[in-house]
Amino acid sequence: MPAPRDIHSYARPHETRVASLHLDLHVEFGARRIRGRASLALERSSGASSVVLDTRDLTIHRITDRDGAPLVFSLGSSHPILGAPLEVTLAPDVVEIHIDYETGPGAAALQWLAPAQTASRRQPFLYSQGQAILTRTWIPTQDSPGIRQTYTARITVPAGLTAVMSAESLTPQGVAVSEGRAFEFRLTRPVPPYLMAIAVGDLVFAPLGPRSGVYAEPATIEAAASEFVDVERMIAAAEQLLGPYQWGRYDVLVLPPSFPFGGMENPLVTFATPTILAGDRSLVSLIAHELAHSWSGNLVTNATWRDFWLNEGMTTYVESRIMEALAGPAHADMLHVLARRELIEEIRRLGGEASPDTVLHVNLEGRDPDDGATRIPYEKGAALMTLLEHTVGRPRFDAYLRGYFERHAFTSIVTDTFVDDLRHHLLAQEPAIEARIRLDEWIHQPGLPDNAVEPQSTQLSAVSAHAKAFAAGSAAAPLPTSAWTTQEWLHFLNELPATLSSAQLVDLDTTFHLSSRGNSEVLFAWLRIAIGHSYRPAMPAVERFLTSQGRRKFLRPLYEDLMATDWGAAEARRIYAIARPTYHAVAVNTLDQIVNAGAKAPAHE
Ligand SMILES: [Zn+2]
Repeated sequence: MPAPRDIHSYARPHETRVASLHLDLHVEFGARRIRGRASLALERSSGASSVVLDTRDLTIHRITDRDGAPLVFSLGSSHPILGAPLEVTLAPDVVEIHIDYETGPGAAALQWLAPAQTASRRQPFLYSQGQAILTRTWIPTQDSPGIRQTYTARITVPAGLTAVMSAESLTPQGVAVSEGRAFEFRLTRPVPPYLMAIAVGDLVFAPLGPRSGVYAEPATIEAAASEFVDVERMIAAAEQLLGPYQWGRYDVLVLPPSFPFGGMENPLVTFATPTILAGDRSLVSLIAHELAHSWSGNLVTNATWRDFWLNEGMTTYVESRIMEALAGPAHADMLHVLARRELIEEIRRLGGEASPDTVLHVNLEGRDPDDGATRIPYEKGAALMTLLEHTVGRPRFDAYLRGYFERHAFTSIVTDTFVDDLRHHLLAQEPAIEARIRLDEWIHQPGLPDNAVEPQSTQLSAVSAHAKAFAAGSAAAPLPTSAWTTQEWLHFLNELPATLSSAQLVDLDTTFHLSSRGNSEVLFAWLRIAIGHSYRPAMPAVERFLTSQGRRKFLRPLYEDLMATDWGAAEARRIYAIARPTYHAVAVNTLDQIVNAGAKAPAHE
């Protein structure tokens, strides 16, 4: 299948295309590098005389054909975002090449953690984060989501460590070799390269159900297994909605706290932040989200990063349907109200309703695709799906979704393909419905169209009333908070005005111990209020939170809030100097622009 033009890849897949890879790699913690061989199987069109791959910060030692004969190659000049094209000249019969290479010290996909940066503090840890275009910093391949590839791997790691990949594990315990242990993997379904992922560390496994389980460090495994006890029910709910789960196993890998995202939907094994281990299963909608990507994203994939909203909008919609099936409509209503607030706030942050960055089919020409990873593709995309559901009715929309995943399984599609599919299979011969939805406006215009379905939650309306009463002067203690869920707490904090008195802040903090909350979302919402009001007693908690986890969703707003105050900028710089070496490059890339403004330093040191 021809791949659409991807401005974030040098590949020319219509000439020569990578079909599959075998990786034989050594993970070297001392040198902080991955070294070894990538063997690529190629599909060539007649007349093609070379293959072009994506690389960034890789050292290429040697490229050979199947018989070990050296091949001529050239590495182009390196672009800061895209990296360097690697062009390999091919004799007419060459369909397999072997690349001997090693990663650079600044490989942006990889984070190397010292034992002190892990939960168990005994062993070092390595993990990769490939999305959007970082896989090219550890694997030389055609790094475009439109070019699906299968892979197998043999990974050698030091003794005592376990390797996990986004693939079927063929040797769960590993095999003893002279350097340590070797682990083998196989993924027979073709995936976009951003889903090729690895984690190596002191990992143990606990089963959750017949086809699911959790990997974590020994210090975290018990909490993780208890938090994710509902994973089998989630898989069942997702299958009910979308059709059979196609990947075999579904495991969750809990990473050390520096992981920059909430979760990453690596096939067969979701990578997740430990900040969702709230102890009460109140933040597991994140797992529902990553699981939903097994269909929207991994089964049907955005072909370019401009189409990212297809991955995230549909996934965010499905996430809420899974949570509705598991926890009931009232719970899902609360999640909708909170999500809408996030969307409105994000539109404001991006410059308002007219901002081009609020367009679903966003223009990323000349930009890092990571710039498009705002809340817009998620929440505005999901709002479009909700509007479609409400307009045609749930039974029809559900039937459409199942058909959509059947029609496009294991392919990568662009926005136009989705729109054509929607017109053909859902809106056919009903121009009145499409006019009501205003599809083009939703996809190509900025802002949130005024026909978006307004979320309602009676549970949260009651909480709004309490927030209002507290703001008007009543005390914190009598508030009926004992049975509040995480979502009610978040809404209460969100609804408080920006003009609380110091006495009110002290009252809230001492009554509810907000500065010492273990629930990351509640703590985050409170710390934003504290900074916004210059409530200095919460500053030790701000520093603790910023130096103990690296999730960009939490870091960015807190640093931005600090930088926006006259007293906080110096604090932000001081804390960032301490914490920056512990953050992943993805977070550093964002935060350097906020905190360091001008004082650029290398992404890894
Ligand atoms: Zn997602």
